[in-house]
Formats: sequence, C-alpha cells, structure tokens
Amino acid sequence: MVLTMLLTPHVFIGLVIAKFFPNPLLAVPLAFVSHFLGDLTPHWDFFSGTKKEERLKGWRPLAVMADFGLGIGIGVLFTAKYLWLDNKVELAIASFLCGIAAVLPDALEAPYMCLDKFPTFIRTITEVQGKLQTQAPIVIGITIQLAVIILSLTYLL
Ligand SMILES: [Zn+2]
Repeated sequence: MVLTMLLTPHVFIGLVIAKFFPNPLLAVPLAFVSHFLGDLTPHWDFFSGTKKEERLKGWRPLAVMADFGLGIGIGVLFTAKYLWLDNKVELAIASFLCGIAAVLPDALEAPYMCLDKFPTFIRTITEVQGKLQTQAPIVIGITIQLAVIILSLTYLL
C-alpha cells in the first residue's frame, strides 16, 4: 500500500487468474504474485508523492477505504454470480480466494501504516513493494489502471 496500484485493479487481475487457471492450487499463489507485477506497471495511487504522515490524514485514508470497499464488493459480486447464477461452485471459491490473494500484500502493510510495532515480515513485504512501485503521473497512471479493469471485465463477462 505504500504506493501501490489501486486495490480494485488488483482484485480484477485476481478474478481473471481464477477464471483462466481452473486449479485453485495454482491460481491462488499466482494471484498473490500478480500483485507484485501489478505494482510494477506504471500507476498512480492515493499515496503517490506523499510522506507517511500525510497518508493517515485527510481524504487519503477515506479514498483508500473506498477503493478497498469497491474491491471487496467486486470480489463478492463475482463470487455470488458464479455461485447462484452460473452454478460454478469451484470457480466461485477460486475467485473469492484469488481476490483476497491479489490484495493480500497490501493488507499486510496496514500494520506498518497504522502501528508503531509490527512483525519483521511486515516491514520486509512493505519494503519489497516499495521497491517494485513504478509511479506514473495521475492521468497516465489512472488510464492504465482503467485499461486493466476494462480488459478484465471483457474477459470475465
Ligand atoms: Zn501493493
């Protein structure tokens, strides 16, 4: 989350992986790895060009929460669709798990953002993600993420 791609595109990538790889034992770890690849694509997020102190104040944490809520909503929506409309229980489970795996690296950073003390691996995952970030100016950064969402939706629907 210390400069990440927005969470919603990560969820979409996770859902695409769940649909593409029918075996959850393969799909879920791939969804986790996809997070880091997603962060490598040039992007803009709510923390771009900010310091740690600025990230817990004002509109930024609210925007992150909204993005998080949207991501969860989309994951749940597709899981429900597969379960009840399509009768594809395995795909529903895989999609749910892949959606979580795809945002897990950022969720693990939450203690780093909000607490003074946290386990060492939290710092490690935060630093690794910090190094992988490729930032872009807001217009390009948002456009690329919108493209990810549109491409994913085209594949999923
Ligand atoms: Zn990230």
